Amino acid sequence: MQTGKTNSNQTVYDVAIIGAGPAGALAAKKLRDQGASVVILERETFPRFSIGESLLPHCLNLLENAGLLQPVIETGFQFKNGAAFQRGDEKRDIDFREKYDAGWGTAYQVKRAEFDKVLADNAEKAGADILYGRTVTRSDLNKGDCHLTHVGEDGDTMVTSSRFVLDASGFGRVLSKLEDLELPSTLAMRTVLFTHMEDQITDPEFDRNKILITVHPKKKDVWYWTIPFSDGTSSVGVVYSNDEDLPDEEVFKRHLQETHLGELLKNASQTRPLGKIKGYSCDVKSLHGPGFALLGNAAEFLDPIFSSGVTIALQSSELAVPLVLKELEGQSPDWENDFSKPLKKGVDVFRVFVQSWYEGGLQDIILNRPEEKTDIELMMVSILSGYAWSEDSPLVQNPTRILRLLEKMYA
Ligand code: FAD
Repeated sequence: MQTGKTNSNQTVYDVAIIGAGPAGALAAKKLRDQGASVVILERETFPRFSIGESLLPHCLNLLENAGLLQPVIETGFQFKNGAAFQRGDEKRDIDFREKYDAGWGTAYQVKRAEFDKVLADNAEKAGADILYGRTVTRSDLNKGDCHLTHVGEDGDTMVTSSRFVLDASGFGRVLSKLEDLELPSTLAMRTVLFTHMEDQITDPEFDRNKILITVHPKKKDVWYWTIPFSDGTSSVGVVYSNDEDLPDEEVFKRHLQETHLGELLKNASQTRPLGKIKGYSCDVKSLHGPGFALLGNAAEFLDPIFSSGVTIALQSSELAVPLVLKELEGQSPDWENDFSKPLKKGVDVFRVFVQSWYEGGLQDIILNRPEEKTDIELMMVSILSGYAWSEDSPLVQNPTRILRLLEKMYA
């Protein structure tokens, strides 16, 4: 393995990373801390907008392990201690601090433009080279010998060589396209409309320290997020299944009006154009191959309902880095058993939760659960806090069986 500070003149890096989002930046920081030379190829120029603004407490453990938590804390993002749920007149709060697993019980609600820049800047400070405005268009990957072709904003083409490649390109899904790894998701096709608003919320019951999840009073597969930021704005979005032949603005407004959000946000004004994603779930045939591995959303994305995306992205980087270091030492690590399987274990826990949410069972469990804090309640809060890889929690080990039991008790 090459050690010491990176040098942008060198021809072969230890590791090239596609994408400077949370997965790429965290992997770069950890690899640099272990002495590997790292380059990140990033299509955009930071700061840039991204969806995915409500973090889970387990993110903080992963940021802390990478030495990235302090700069995040210092940025002054909106503190978050839980989630508030509302369906018609039914309301229920979840406090992340009342959980089963040890570790952080609070998190932040972040504008991703700022959050991702903080992480990327700190990876750069640790010695990673970041080439912004470079879109990866071609991959030639073999064990120990990898080449990525990338195009600049002026159309100039360059090739970067490395001994290993991590794809952290998120919805760009670079290697799953170039290496023919794409697989359709087994989850239903859903659409999301979202924006940022100067929210002007005056309701004294509204808790800015929580993400608000609103469920449509009549349609259990339609839900909304309201994520307050520290500057008086909020991210607001609606997820639904049935497309309508109407302008998006009209669909968005009508959806809000059909819930208490119409009243809550009656004085709000939009500060970003409406965004739309149709069919956000995706999957891949394999998370690794000779000379490469896929991180975060470049591998799989389930659903935004439990804000698990950034947590999964950071967890994937944490799991991948020790194996990349073994690759650089000339070993042949067991990517299937030491990366794919452990990562998928937690992702599959979230998958069970997502399925139960859309079937309505988990909505009833959350809204009807008793006040008393039984172990099973604490385990559920733990998973909703991102602790989906817990070795100790029976709910993580048997999510389907235990959720069915809870559905029978509370539905
Ligand atoms: P990204 O953050 O997407 O970063 C990938 C980077 O790769 C980007 O900067 C991109 O410019 C770059 N890139 C792409 N293609 C190329 C290329 N060809 N060459 C070079 N660079 C490239 N997650 C949460 O944790 N909380 C939430 O509240 C939440 N809400 C969500 C709501 C919706 C509607 C959706 C769809 C997702 C949500 N997510 C949420 C998920 C979250 O957005 C992602 O999980 C997270 O951003 C993944 O991080 P990443 O590092 O894998 O990828």
